[in-house]
Amino acid sequence: METNPKEENICSACHQPVLPQYYFCPNCGNKLHSAPLSTTAQTQAWIYAFSIILPMICFIFVNRWPGVKYFKSSDPKVKLIGYIAWALLALSTVFVIYFAIVFTRELTQSTINSINTDMGF
Ligand SMILES: [Zn+2]
Repeated sequence: METNPKEENICSACHQPVLPQYYFCPNCGNKLHSAPLSTTAQTQAWIYAFSIILPMICFIFVNRWPGVKYFKSSDPKVKLIGYIAWALLALSTVFVIYFAIVFTRELTQSTINSINTDMGF
């Protein structure tokens, strides 16, 4: 293979030449390095505001969620509803976390791929 001075980086997975500005290998999709995170004032304001608001939103929802009240009841029928509510909450949480991870990974991959395509690589 001819050596090109512009293509000095090699993908660790498929050993194809890659440009240093690539975040993912265009040949095999191997992650080369992480995309830099935005540090603009707007991004910072959004992150800090979200960090402050998030626990408040969680608190409001947990407060309104009747599962705790039902679970603490001495009536077995009411308690069963509480058990089911807890089980569904746990299942839903795992489900949401799983899909959030998968979705974030695929979104990042497709965004990087489209950036590479737009730049004509
Ligand atoms: Zn590769």
